[in-house]
Amino acid sequence: MATKKLGSAARYGARYGKKLKTKITNVEKIQRKKQECPYCGRKTAKRLATGIWKCNKCDSKFTGGAYKLGE
Ligand SMILES: [Zn+2]
Repeated sequence: MATKKLGSAARYGARYGKKLKTKITNVEKIQRKKQECPYCGRKTAKRLATGIWKCNKCDSKFTGGAYKLGE
């Protein structure tokens, strides 16, 4: 069985198309990146759950886009 380089989306298996997997991989890359906190302006906000972010610096919790702030 050949392993294709699809990153973290590979776990979704063959049921999903390659296009969708690429999309998921991109989204997950963004999710892992820290986002800018709207309260203190530092890039310390981490995604807690879908649409919920928490800043590690000032401890603020806020909602944002499902996958990325400001979307
Ligand atoms: Zn903050």
